[in-house]
Amino acid sequence: MALDIKNLKLEQKILHQPPLNEVAEVLNNGLKNNFSTVQVEVVDCPDLTQRPFTLACKGLGGKANLLEIGGPPFLMPLVNRNKVYELKQIPEALDLDPAFIIGASAGPFPHTGVSCEEMVNLYICKNKLLNQSRISKVNVEDTSRHILETLPESETRCSLLANLFCSNGNAGKVLKVHCKKRTGNDDFIAAIRKTLMKFYKEKVVGLGGTFLLKEGQAKQHVMPDFSKTPITSGEDFNDWLKFYNMSAPLIAVGTLVTGQTELDLRVQHFHSFSHHGEGGHYHIDTTPDSVEYLGYFNLGKILYRLDRPNLDEHQMIKFERF
Ligand code: ZN
Repeated sequence: MALDIKNLKLEQKILHQPPLNEVAEVLNNGLKNNFSTVQVEVVDCPDLTQRPFTLACKGLGGKANLLEIGGPPFLMPLVNRNKVYELKQIPEALDLDPAFIIGASAGPFPHTGVSCEEMVNLYICKNKLLNQSRISKVNVEDTSRHILETLPESETRCSLLANLFCSNGNAGKVLKVHCKKRTGNDDFIAAIRKTLMKFYKEKVVGLGGTFLLKEGQAKQHVMPDFSKTPITSGEDFNDWLKFYNMSAPLIAVGTLVTGQTELDLRVQHFHSFSHHGEGGHYHIDTTPDSVEYLGYFNLGKILYRLDRPNLDEHQMIKFERF
């Protein structure tokens, strides 16, 4: 069961694409307000299939675009169970072959039986499919714990909402962002986003890729099963989520944009997985003095917006932090 993407509204917006060298310089200067050690440079993308990243494809190059599907309004006041999407239809919808798709989404609840977080990590090339996506769900027997699982090869759906970075997965130049010791209040992604926003102002820049929480711990949430009581405020939403302190190394995937724009974009969204059983929606590290981040990102050219919720039908709630 999944909606046919061909029948859904697909909007798009051309993003501002400054030269990578300029972005590196802007970040090198700006991130110093939030981290004591900052090194940003343009490099050849390392092979991301290797440790520590272990992604489904090597690079972030070739037709690099951002895709946002659905949104939090589909979770409230009660979940809309029709909102299941087949990611295998994305390459055709975006004319992308091969397609390397990574990012943060709600997981395929028809498969898991419960609401869950998904870390999309998928490579699709004509006859070949490599699905290394994970899901994270609350342990119903002990909600102080959560469970991380790799999805079966054939389970390529997500649901409700997604922020995905899509490319051919080619080698090529990327931004390497290496930061240590957090001295400001912003999480790694918010620091990058706000720095770019300050410099590029109304020109909307979007980027995506992966980052490693190399040292330290991070506050991350996992959605418990869908709320049976209506969620009508940001406070209700927060009370419903389960928060965990998760340990490095965590491998995060997702996107950020420097403006919400007329497409009601989610400005940042990263989910992370690990090889030690932890994974969820990244908020911020909880160990600022010892934290270390290493990220590889590329700029998107087009922002695709699929199945944007009609906010007239829902109570509008701002979700900047989720
Ligand atoms: Zn999330």
